[in-house]
Amino acid sequence: MNNLQDISRIILDSKKIGITYHVSPDGDAVGSALALLNALKKLKKDAYLISKDIISENLQFLKGAKEATGNLTSATEDTSIVVVLDCGNYERISADLDTFKGSIINIDHHVSNDNYGELNYIDTDAAATAEIVFELLEELGLNFNEETDSIKNIGTCLYTSLVTDTGAFRHSNVTFRTHTIAARLKKIGVNNTYIHQNLFDNKSFEKIRLIGKALNGMELLLDRKVSLIKIPISYGNELGIEIGDTSDIISFGLQIKGVEVAVLIKEVENGTKVSLRSKDKFDVRNIAERLGGGGHVKAAGITLKGIKLEEAKDKILEEIEKELL
Ligand code: 5GP
Ligand code: MN
Repeated sequence: MNNLQDISRIILDSKKIGITYHVSPDGDAVGSALALLNALKKLKKDAYLISKDIISENLQFLKGAKEATGNLTSATEDTSIVVVLDCGNYERISADLDTFKGSIINIDHHVSNDNYGELNYIDTDAAATAEIVFELLEELGLNFNEETDSIKNIGTCLYTSLVTDTGAFRHSNVTFRTHTIAARLKKIGVNNTYIHQNLFDNKSFEKIRLIGKALNGMELLLDRKVSLIKIPISYGNELGIEIGDTSDIISFGLQIKGVEVAVLIKEVENGTKVSLRSKDKFDVRNIAERLGGGGHVKAAGITLKGIKLEEAKDKILEEIEKELL
C-alpha cells in the first residue's frame, strides 16, 4: 500500500486531476470528493468532478455539488490522475475509466477493496473515507486552524461525511480520531446543526409518506431476529416521487428490540437493490459478498441484477438463516 505522502506528492505534481466516487454516492462519497475538489481549487490546482450520478437533494448544500451534472462521465484527454474515493470495486466507480491512460488513485475505507488503483490507500479503521481525506488535505498543506470561509466549506463537506457514515456518531466505527477531526472542524466554525438540518430535517411530505408505507409493510422473520422492508417501484409512482436514497428507512428496521439484522429490498430498473445492516456481531458484509456485493461488517449492499423482489427476499433470507443458526 502507498502512503499519503506519496499520494500528496503525486497530486501536487499533476496538472489536471479528476475526482470521482462510487455509484449512487452517499454522504461520505460526496463529502470526501467535494472536500478534495474544493481543497485542490484552493491550492490553485486544475481539478474537476467526474460523475455518472447527480448528487442527491439532501447533499446539494455542499459547495460544488452542482458540478455533478451526470454528463461528464469519463476523464478528459489532458487528465493526469483520477482520484477515486470511498469505492471498493472498479465496477462500482461512477465514471467510465476503461480508456483512461493516466493513473488511478484509490482512497477508501472498505474492507472489501480490490486495490484497483496504480496507487492505493485503504484504511479500514477510518469510520469514513473523509477521515483519510482530512489527513491527506493536511499533507497537501491545508491549514485546519484557519477560520476562513473556504476552509469552513471544506470542513462542512468532511463533517457531513463523518455524520452520514457513522449514523451521526452512533455506530461502532467511531473512534477517537473521528471525534478529534469533528472537534477540530467545530473549532473553526463548521456548523453541525446546519449540517444535520440539511441532511435529516429537509424531507418532502411525500418522502415521509413513503417511509410510512415502507414501515407499514415491514415483516419480522427468522425468530424475530430479522426485519425486512420491501420497496416496490409502485410506491414511488403512487406518491409521485423518485424513491432515491433509502438509508434513512432501513435504520428503522434495526431500532426494534431483538432484531439483529435489518434488510431493505428495493425494486430498481435492472433488478433489486439490497441493503443490509446489523446491530452487534452479525457480519452482513459476508452475506453481501457471497451474493456478489460488499461493504462493511455492519452495513453492506448488493444489486441483484434481473432478480425480482420476492426472489431476492428468498435468496437473502436463505443466506442470513445459515449464519444465524
Ligand atoms: P447501502 O446499503 O447504503 O447501499 O450500502 C451499504 C454499504 O455497502 C456501503 O458501504 C456501500 O458501499 C456497500 N455496498 C452497497 N451496495 C454494494 C454493491 O452492490 N457492491 C459492493 N461491493 N458494495 C456495496
Ligand atoms: Mn464511506
